[in-house]
Amino acid sequence: MKSLYSNIPNMNEILSKLSMDDIDPKWQKKLADQYLQTLRESIASGDVKDVNADEVIQSIRNFIEATLAPGLKRIINGTGVIIHTNLGRSSISKRLLDEAADVLAHYSNLEYSLEKGARGSRYAPVVERLKLLTGAEDAIVVNNNAAAVMLTLNTFASGGSVIVSRGELVEIGGAFRIPEVMKLSGCQLIEVGTTNKTHPFDYTQAIDEETRMMMKVHTSNYRIQGFTASVETDVLSEIAKANALILYEDLGSGTFEAIEGFQEKTIQEAAAHCDLLSFSGDKLLGGPQCGIIVGKQKLIAQIKANQLLRALRVDKFTLSILDRLMTAYFKNEALRTEAIPTHRYLKLSKDTIEAKVDAFLNQYQEPLNNIQLHVAKASMDSEVGAGSMPLALLPSCGLIIQSDHSIEKCFQAMRRLDQPLIGRIEKDSIVLDFRMIEEDDFTGVFNALKAGCYHA
Ligand SMILES: *Cc1c(COP(=O)(O)O)cnc(C)c1O
Repeated sequence: MKSLYSNIPNMNEILSKLSMDDIDPKWQKKLADQYLQTLRESIASGDVKDVNADEVIQSIRNFIEATLAPGLKRIINGTGVIIHTNLGRSSISKRLLDEAADVLAHYSNLEYSLEKGARGSRYAPVVERLKLLTGAEDAIVVNNNAAAVMLTLNTFASGGSVIVSRGELVEIGGAFRIPEVMKLSGCQLIEVGTTNKTHPFDYTQAIDEETRMMMKVHTSNYRIQGFTASVETDVLSEIAKANALILYEDLGSGTFEAIEGFQEKTIQEAAAHCDLLSFSGDKLLGGPQCGIIVGKQKLIAQIKANQLLRALRVDKFTLSILDRLMTAYFKNEALRTEAIPTHRYLKLSKDTIEAKVDAFLNQYQEPLNNIQLHVAKASMDSEVGAGSMPLALLPSCGLIIQSDHSIEKCFQAMRRLDQPLIGRIEKDSIVLDFRMIEEDDFTGVFNALKAGCYHA
């Protein structure tokens, strides 16, 4: 065992042979030390029975590279879920990013009024277009919609109560629960109605001197079907007015455009009936993670005066992309769709997706057969995701792949690649929905299948 330790090269030799000049020597040494520590432990425990100096140096090089590699990777989304929260929700088009990058790589008028030559508002750059798009009097942007909900409740209802229908006490993925957020915002939740039915009188009967606000929450990720009743915001708006209360709607995933074939209320429709409205930037809007609050100018001014905003305020990276996105929304449909990948994916017809699958098979059917993968084209359904339109299924096309090897292992191996491929597992097969797989992903898809399934 002693000789095993003596085979380990000394630090000077390691550092000179690593030839990783671009890495600070201080870190080369620290990480090499860390690697050697583990190696010595493995020798002591008998797990390592052979030590070769050159191999040790190569392993240290691999260890340093793996440790210092960026952790966020581009992945190929073969899941068929368009707005996949675990996969970063909406992707941003290169064009918008390039435009924003030019601003971000330099100084900007983030909080500087170019007109007055003095301190300006962080929100000013996007507010006018948000007002045009939503029809609201004013707008403000924060970190995400959860922050928007919290800030709104805290500003207007802290120390008081807020009325919400029992049918709308939602939990969104990642444990965002309306009742919990209420508590954190310092307000008391008054639940009214039942899970399946809430009527106008449920709201009116619950109003008392503690009531500050009536809140409507979009039931993003589920639908209550069958014998149901809920009160729409136009009716709630009358009740709120008659009782001098604020009506706030959390729309979750907001969209400016009616989406063909789906009954999703647009942001403009929602904004027309309530005093305040909030929605996410990275769901159907197709932009960066943020939460947008629009509504009455007087109320937005009060939100701006809340100290909590300082902790929830949006950063310049987000704002610069949102800024470009807002402009894209005024372009003609073709340009708009091109600028917003989420919308492009939403609108893809099954035929177009099938053509992508055919193009892929044309190129790779034979190579796939050569590595013993059985691949079949199949119809399937994509989902919108992120709690948007939970029941909507979008006709799509993709591949069903069977391998002689364990599918579970294939999946695991495909996740560990430099450019991982994520699909679904169904009945011992890999299912790849081609809706979000682009032509420039084809090589990546093949390489992932080969690396993942051939050696598995
Ligand atoms: C998604 C969602 C949220 C949370 O929005 P984030 O932008 O993810 O913070 C809040 N409310 C509803 C109804 C939602 O659908």
